[in-house]
Amino acid sequence: LGVFGGGLGGMGGTGTFACRLISSGSLGIELGLMALGVGPGANVAVCAYDYPGNFRAIELLGARPVLVDAALDSYSISPDSLRDIESDQVDVVIASHLYGVPAQVAEIDAICRDKGWNWVEDACQTPLMAIDGRFAGSHGDLGVLSFGGSKPLTAGNGGAILTRNPLLVSKLNARLDRPSDATPVSSLQAAALLPQLDRIAECNRRRADTVRRIVDEVPWIVESLHGICPAPSATCYKLAFLSPKRDHIVDSLIRAGLPVGAGFRSMHRSSKRRCNKIGELNRSAQLGDQVCLLDHRALLAQGDSQDRLIECLRRFS
Ligand SMILES: *Cc1c(COP(=O)(O)O)cnc(C)c1O
Repeated sequence: LGVFGGGLGGMGGTGTFACRLISSGSLGIELGLMALGVGPGANVAVCAYDYPGNFRAIELLGARPVLVDAALDSYSISPDSLRDIESDQVDVVIASHLYGVPAQVAEIDAICRDKGWNWVEDACQTPLMAIDGRFAGSHGDLGVLSFGGSKPLTAGNGGAILTRNPLLVSKLNARLDRPSDATPVSSLQAAALLPQLDRIAECNRRRADTVRRIVDEVPWIVESLHGICPAPSATCYKLAFLSPKRDHIVDSLIRAGLPVGAGFRSMHRSSKRRCNKIGELNRSAQLGDQVCLLDHRALLAQGDSQDRLIECLRRFS
């Protein structure tokens, strides 16, 4: 899968990317934190609304999650809240790109440099999405991709970890190059993955096309996007929209036959014995209560089935 490394270098990054294949995105986050020296006593900033496995990865390493609120104009960690944290209160930051809307990588990177923090970029949902002219996963000190069962690139299970920092490469190699290592992607999985690389750009384009139509033709969804809309070039794994009547909407759309579900549970209520909290975390609480997700299977619809999807969503208002 050197394609990824080559592609990333070709997108204007400096230095050569190392790409190691691993058994899952979740393991990638854990290994990435470990390579950055996270262990007992370390504090890791993570959005209170995020893939719950990221919170768990911090805990599994004996470190302490520092919950940061989500930004108002994305579903990701808020740069403004990060900026308010004293540099000695955090060691490493995790930032995820969710639902085709990128985290604010330039701001996050600048803040981390300023405070002396490293950051892990969770690009599990957004393989090959261009952000500021470079692929998702190439902005952080380490980037993580997932090839899990439901992800845009899938091998059933699997993932990759990317970095261009030679010190981190050697730390990862020390972890991964062991005689009977149990965590790689198998040859069989790689064989399933390789042909998908030729199709991912086309699938991303199709999903973006469906999202564009929804935005143009389904007013109630546009309203519930609250101004957050995936870019035309986004890798839309799922389309998120917000509703105070989330459970009702999800039930009704499922009954109408659409693949719709709720977003992540927010961690804002976690006990202070388990984590530190920065501010009120109101936005994360709102996302945890209100995010509805239209699945990527529906976003891939084309032609007649895309028309039927739009019709079904329009009728629903
Ligand atoms: C799916 C996902 C992961 C974990 O990937 P797995 O390969 O399923 O372990 C991590 N972060 C985000 C944002 C995800 O969506």
